[in-house]
Amino acid sequence: MSLSVTLLGTGSPMPSPDRAGPATLISAGDGDDAEHYLVDAGRGVLMRLAALGLGAPNLTAVLITHLHSDHITDLNDVITTRWVMTFTETPLTIVGPVGTQAVVDHLLASLDPDIEYRIAHHEDLDHRPPVTVIEVTDGAIELPSGQGGGVTISCGQTDHKPVEPSVGFRFGREGASVVVAGDTVPCDGLDALCAGADALVHTAIRKDIIANVPVPRMQDTLDYHSSPEQAAQTAAKAGLATLILTHYVPPMPISGTEDDWRTLAAEHFAGTIELGDDLHRVEIHPR
Ligand SMILES: [Zn+2]
Ligand SMILES: [Zn+2]
Repeated sequence: MSLSVTLLGTGSPMPSPDRAGPATLISAGDGDDAEHYLVDAGRGVLMRLAALGLGAPNLTAVLITHLHSDHITDLNDVITTRWVMTFTETPLTIVGPVGTQAVVDHLLASLDPDIEYRIAHHEDLDHRPPVTVIEVTDGAIELPSGQGGGVTISCGQTDHKPVEPSVGFRFGREGASVVVAGDTVPCDGLDALCAGADALVHTAIRKDIIANVPVPRMQDTLDYHSSPEQAAQTAAKAGLATLILTHYVPPMPISGTEDDWRTLAAEHFAGTIELGDDLHRVEIHPR
């Protein structure tokens, strides 16, 4: 197996009983040698990982596209659970845009009472959660030695203004590559990241629906997200084989409306279009 994408959470800030918050897992390899990269850590991410038989200790690294709360809601859970469920010190690497270090520092500060309770209570736990943050802008990403190695990772700037900075990530292995865009409108940075890749995971909102919702705060979301049509245009421009849509706004009951989303995208992209419920998985093959 070269690379696979699992949509851990296909939801958005709008709570849904069926869809966890934004989170995507990129996996490579099998068994003990497998590498698992978590992109964004939305609501319920560890529940969805558990459904795959995986947990926070299995993550090779966590990568954050931007610091909107819905994409990092459960980062504290990942940090704490990794810390208390591993029995030798296992540093967690978190990669994200500039500003990520400050957010992680504040998160850890908010966890101070919990950290003190656990260190006091467990004789074999004598260290705080070991977390390394790598802030990135664009280009190749090197993880600390001993972490990863089976997957090449790079990033590029996306456009989710006024959320700034925001980045997308590209993962490559054995000739296959996939880009995870996060929230963005079409932009040069994303086009460059997608050039020559096989697949694109893109968040999407139905502008044709949201534009008719007479709530100013909903209307505000139109200008910094892509519609399925715009995500498809980005995929077509880069000549990709597969477009994987996620982060559905409004949250869709999958049966019945899935085809509407696919039809909108298919007007602009002739390749394979994937949509699904949480845990939908797509294998990425080199072309
Ligand atoms: Zn966002
Ligand atoms: Zn979002």
